Amino acid sequence: MIPSPFAFYAPARLDEALDLLQQYGDEAKLLAGGHSLLPTMKLRLATPAVLIDLHKIPDLVGITVDERVTIGSMTTWSALEADATLCAAVPVLAATIRLIGDRQVRNRGTLGGALAHADPAADAPALVLVLNGTLTIYGPAGIRTVAAKDFFVDLLTTALAPDEILTAITLDRVGPDEGAAYLKFAHPASRYALVGVAAFLRVEAGQITACRVAVTGAGVRAERLTIVEARLLHQPAQAEVFAAAAQGAADTLEILGDLHASEAYRRAMVEVYTRRALEAAAANLRAS
Ligand SMILES: Cc1cc2nc3c(=O)[nH]c(=O)nc-3n(C[C@H](O)[C@H](O)[C@H](O)COP(=O)(O)OP(=O)(O)OC[C@H]3O[C@@H](n4cnc5c(N)ncnc54)[C@H](O)[C@@H]3O)c2cc1C
Repeated sequence: MIPSPFAFYAPARLDEALDLLQQYGDEAKLLAGGHSLLPTMKLRLATPAVLIDLHKIPDLVGITVDERVTIGSMTTWSALEADATLCAAVPVLAATIRLIGDRQVRNRGTLGGALAHADPAADAPALVLVLNGTLTIYGPAGIRTVAAKDFFVDLLTTALAPDEILTAITLDRVGPDEGAAYLKFAHPASRYALVGVAAFLRVEAGQITACRVAVTGAGVRAERLTIVEARLLHQPAQAEVFAAAAQGAADTLEILGDLHASEAYRRAMVEVYTRRALEAAAANLRAS
């Protein structure tokens, strides 16, 4: 289908993009890779009168690897995957990106677009949750930061106000004695997650001293599995412990059922993928 008519702007500066957002209010939509927005426009599920393309704003692209890593919101999956320094600092990021769509999707899709869109089946939200993500947001009141755990609010809904722009995402590196993994049960056609689980562990002298686990694909939004995390803390990093912690992992979650997977099936898969992601994170532990 063909989208309804729209005006197109491609500002070269962030403040120009913000001015346009304020000028057009609810009629405007920001355009990143377009891989989620354009399909919804073609189906006329979204009919913005104005598109504000962010591609010409250099401040929104780039990767800085420091004590933490900071990624400009318009950086594509392919650019992330190609950055050897970033991949060495956060190996789980490269491994996750290889699971996203296909090469064309990864060449256009952006980390910022994926997080701002908050598709319940997207992979990156779970990963950003376990890597302690911080999202930098620019709006009329200036710059603010939001922790990933507070960013994903509901189905396709985030803490972003309509007149705000996500500018950057900051993540923890995976350090010595730490390991992380993301595993998903992917829809065979789209590759989106029917259930995806990300896990992060720090293990010192055989004991788990820090852990974060997050699920995507199963409910209306990605979220931390805090019950599982509490069961793991100060326990030995062993397969039996992971299996026990994963039991009933989805019990307190609101789980979706649809034509691709029933609620009960997704619930069962959350448990399976939680256990497997924990085992994989332990297998990925980096030497101290
Ligand atoms: C065939 C196909 C397969 C895919 N498979 C997967 C998969 O397996 N796993 C997965 O996780 N994803 C998958 N995707 C999604 C894809 O990887 C992109 O992440 C996703 O489309 C959003 O990124 P984008 O840059 O295209 O955003 P866009 O589509 O341009 O934007 C999405 C939404 O975010 C808003 N937005 C964008 N940037 C900003 C910003 N900086 N600040 C505020 N709001 C903003 C836009 O206004 C829009 O509402 C797939 C997509 C396709 C088309």
